[in-house]
Amino acid sequence: MNTDFFNFQPVTPVQQVSYQRSDKKKLTFLVKRDDLIHPLVSGNKWRKLKYNLNLAQNANFAGIASFGGAFSNHIAALSALGHQAEFPTIGFIRTDHIDSKNPTLRLAKDRGMTLIKLTRQEYRLRNDPGFITSLKVQYPDYLFVPEGGSNEAAGAGLKELADEISQQCEFDRFAVAVGSGGTVSGLMDNLPHNGIGVAVVRDDTLITNLTKKYGNRLTLKYNPISGKYGKVTPELAEFCLDFFTQTGIPVEPIYTGKLLFNLCLHREYLNIPDDEKILVIHTGGLQGISGLIYRQKISASDWISVIEATAN
Ligand SMILES: *Cc1c(COP(=O)(O)O)cnc(C)c1O
Repeated sequence: MNTDFFNFQPVTPVQQVSYQRSDKKKLTFLVKRDDLIHPLVSGNKWRKLKYNLNLAQNANFAGIASFGGAFSNHIAALSALGHQAEFPTIGFIRTDHIDSKNPTLRLAKDRGMTLIKLTRQEYRLRNDPGFITSLKVQYPDYLFVPEGGSNEAAGAGLKELADEISQQCEFDRFAVAVGSGGTVSGLMDNLPHNGIGVAVVRDDTLITNLTKKYGNRLTLKYNPISGKYGKVTPELAEFCLDFFTQTGIPVEPIYTGKLLFNLCLHREYLNIPDDEKILVIHTGGLQGISGLIYRQKISASDWISVIEATAN
């Protein structure tokens, strides 16, 4: 394995941001720009995969295998890191066929990832020990990393994020988009602060578990306002574009855009007092924009300047 990437210790900036709503109310908060962390791998996926690659190398695995949807940021990130580290990767993809025109899968394949399709029924078993064992029979020397990359090794990378933030700025609460919950947990476990999470997937078990674990320290809400996972309402798209125009910070509408939409336009829903100093974690994921354009969920002409402003 080529571990040059591992010696790379970027410190991403924390930026003070003002956003003015259409009712003229002006909001200010801090943004941790983890979208800028790496030229190919943005945000929390770099944090989570870093120590998984380290583990794979130290334990002499032949490669890393993981799971994701057809437009997954995690799959994009794993393929890019595998390519850079010259280390084999396998992506088990929830899809009926591997669409060679899908921008995420095409790039993953170009980066040398082996793509294997799983039916929806098979994919539901992605965390089932028996199913994983059956896959391991076929790929015995691979390190299997769960969907989204949230495992114990990911925690070490998220601790680095938490330590970095603590040294960089003062704030009352942090706010982050929640998928599998790995990132919000990593921050809650390593920061003294309370947190706000906006869950982009409706997963009642996850919400119950996290609420049980962190109690009052964590305000965690499912995001009903801006639509289901992967759904981009016109209001949400318009907000993301307006946020970019006002701040120069590119956001996608699946994770960080959804978090900011709630934070800026529906503060009462998250119980955020006006004078509270919030640190928003920009978890990246901007590669997902091309997939949304490909599926015609947003228009290429509206989003071209956002794409041009992304680091990866
Ligand atoms: C995967 C992802 C998340 C969710 O992170 P979890 O650790 O799975 O909760 C948030 N933002 C972006 C951009 C992501 O790609």
